[in-house]
Parts: sequence; C-alpha cells; structure tokens
Amino acid sequence: MRSPYFTADHEVFRAKVRTFLAAEVLPDAARWEQEDGLPRELWKLFGEQGYLGLLHASSVGGGRDMFTSVVFLEELGRTGFGGLRAAVSVHAYMATHYLAWVGSRELRRTYLEPAVRGDSVAALAITEPAAGSDLAGLTTTATPDGDHYVVNGTKTMVSNGMVADFAVVAVRTGASADSDKSGMTGLSLLVVDSDLPGISRAPVRTLGWRSAGTATVVYDDVRVPADRLIGRLNSGFYYLVRGLQLERLVAATLALGGIEQSLDDLRGFLRGRRVAGSVLAEKQAPVHRVADLVTELAAARQLVHHTAWLYDQGELPTEECSMAKLYTTELACRLADTSLQLQGAHGYLEQSDAARAYRDARAATIAAGPSEVMRDLIGRAAMRGPAGRGAGAQR
Ligand SMILES: Cc1cc2nc3c(=O)[nH]c(=O)nc-3n(C[C@H](O)[C@H](O)[C@H](O)COP(=O)(O)OP(=O)(O)OC[C@H]3O[C@@H](n4cnc5c(N)ncnc54)[C@H](O)[C@@H]3O)c2cc1C
Repeated sequence: MRSPYFTADHEVFRAKVRTFLAAEVLPDAARWEQEDGLPRELWKLFGEQGYLGLLHASSVGGGRDMFTSVVFLEELGRTGFGGLRAAVSVHAYMATHYLAWVGSRELRRTYLEPAVRGDSVAALAITEPAAGSDLAGLTTTATPDGDHYVVNGTKTMVSNGMVADFAVVAVRTGASADSDKSGMTGLSLLVVDSDLPGISRAPVRTLGWRSAGTATVVYDDVRVPADRLIGRLNSGFYYLVRGLQLERLVAATLALGGIEQSLDDLRGFLRGRRVAGSVLAEKQAPVHRVADLVTELAAARQLVHHTAWLYDQGELPTEECSMAKLYTTELACRLADTSLQLQGAHGYLEQSDAARAYRDARAATIAAGPSEVMRDLIGRAAMRGPAGRGAGAQR
C-alpha cells in the first residue's frame, strides 16, 4: 500500500531486513521455539547489522528516524515468531531505551554500547508476582548501604530473563508501597548484572513466545554499585510511564507485521485448498471474513503509522499508543482465531504457523499493558475531552 510515511530509503532498508531475517532467522526459528531460547550468536548477527540500536543516538550506532524502526519492527513481526519479536524488541527498544535516554555516560559505555553491538543481552524487569500492570504496587527494594544498593525482591515474566547479561530493574528506593498511598514517588531504575551473588533465575514456561527465554528472577541481598542508578533517584515512575508509550507503539508495530504475514498465509491456504470441487478462495463465507480482516488491517496500519509519526515529531502520544496497542493486538487475536478455523485441522496441528500465531497473539494483549488497562487509559482521556491527554499509573 502506498504511504506518505515511507521513503525509497525505507523500502531499501525493508528489503535488506527481510533478506536478513529470511537467511538468518526463519530457517531455525521453529527450533529455537522448542529450545525455549535464542542462540547467543544471533544477537551478534543482529548487532552487526545495526538492528539493535536504530532508535538510539548516532553516537551508539543509531540516529535513524522512527520509520526506520517501524520498518524493522514490521519485518520482525512478519517472521511470525512472537518469542523472537519479544526478545529482540525488549532488548533494543525497552531495556536499553532507559540507558540511552537517561543513563550516565559510564552506563552507556559499559552497558548500552555492548548491547547495541550484540555482545550482551538486556532484559527489563518490572513485573512482580503480586504486581504487574499496577506499577505503584511494586515492592522490590533497593536499600542504600555505603556506595551500594542492596536489592531484595522477585521479578517475574522477564523476557530474556534466562539469558540476559544484565537487567534494567524497577526498584523501590523511596517511600514504600504502603507508606505512599499513590506508590508512585519512590521508584528508581537500576542496572543489575545477572551474575551478581544473590541472584537466582528460573524459567517460566509460557503458552507462546517460547523463544523469549522468560524467567522469574529472585534478588536476595544483591549488592549493586550505587552508580548503576539510571537517571535520577526516585524518578523511575516517570521514566517507566514515558517508556511504556514506546513499548506500546513497538508492540503495535510488531503486531501489525504479524497480521500482514498471517493474512498472507491465510490467503495462500484459501487459494490452494479445494473443497467440494472448488478452492476455498471462491467461497463467499471465507472470502467475506478475509474482507473484514483486510479492512481492519488497513485501519490498523493507519493508526500505527500515524502514532509513529506523532512520536517522530517529538510528541508523546499516549492515547494513540494505547489505541494502537489495543487495536492491533486484539485484531491479531481475531485473525489468529479465524485463520486457524478456516485452515481446519491443518491449522490445529501443534507445529503449524496458524497454531503458533494463535498462541503468540494471546500474549500481546497482556504484555506491555493488558487491553483492559488500555481501555481505561483511552476511556479516561476520552471523558476528559480532547485536551485531556495524560498517562495513568497503570501499564
Ligand atoms: C509473554 C509475556 C512477556 C512479558 N515480558 C515482560 C518483561 O519482559 N518484563 C516485565 O517486567 N514484564 C513482562 N511481562 C508482564 C506484563 O507486563 C504483565 O503481565 C502486565 O503488565 C499485566 O500484569 P499482570 O500479569 O500482573 O496482571 P494484573 O496487573 O494482575 O492484571 C490481571 C488482569 O486484570 C485485568 N486488569 C488489570 N488492570 C485492570 C483495570 N485497570 N481495569 C480492569 N481490568 C484490569 C486485566 O485483564 C489483566 O490481564 C510479560 C507478560 C507476558 C504475558
């Protein structure tokens, strides 16, 4: 589809990314799903192509516009492997985002630069067993002790958690979740090396996104040097709420790419499958369902690209990020359900692309903020009127 957002250079870049993914990812991605993780060498390959820091400053190998990232994320989404998408996007757009944005020069040199080269793997550890979307309820503590913080608590659902060399961890450094009713003032972000004494991690077996190496990470009196603080003390809530907007836009863009690929697969199946003397692509029932999905895809594409454009203009389009995430990830679920149904038993085979899409799509309406929270944020802003933009305390 022609678009005002993409230049000829973007399309050249798209072809390059697609060729790279076809050569280096697609042949082995199904095996990585079964192995519950990506191989170490893959990170290096992504890093060599410059794909792990596109949105960061040019001094660390980025300096590209938002639409270069949109192209990359759409293509990553088109692979159809949710675990791979999550692993790479958490590393390149979520965990390292905070280091690039407000990290000290030393933190950028020690953690960001190796991560952009693919020499190290990053995770983002916010969620806890008792608090996920409710950031104000986080209870993992970092207590000052000389020139260190002592970290205690448990993080869960950490993508890349099993393989990450370091994690950006949301910790409570100020008022406790009990003493501060809002729970918003005392959060900070710390970079924590994964091999520090007192850290233990265990795999979390999930329905989909299998190659993301998801983990529960326990911090038991972990001593972290005080200079690993990212940005200002007790400003973590502010950083996270802003960072979550990018997280949602990234999630929406990945979903968009996945929807395009799944629709291509479905159309291919319908054209090739003969039932009662004619191909399914000539029967009205499946074709009308495809018509609805293609129409919704066209709407989703405009919403995501418009949101990316606003972001590229330096805005923080919180409502649009929530709408884009809500609409695309729920559309991916509707499509996955329809596609599996229209492919009959072929779609129901465990190793089929349709079955994997069905499993993977469910994760995206939860991670980076459940649909219910997106509706809350959009609804509250809508009731305030067009001028009432603002992010809430949930993700
Ligand atoms: C595959 C996967 C990968 C993930 N990766 C990471 C990661 O790398 N790092 C990380 O920190 N976290 C990660 N997460 C965690 C994710 O961000 C949380 O699952 C999410 O924020 C929701 O938190 P929760 O699961 O604790 O659900 P809760 O916050 O307990 O909510 C449970 C349910 O309650 C409903 N709900 C919540 N709030 C509201 C509301 N305001 N109104 C109405 N209903 C509501 C929703 O249906 C929600 O699904 C991942 C999650 C998944 C599924």
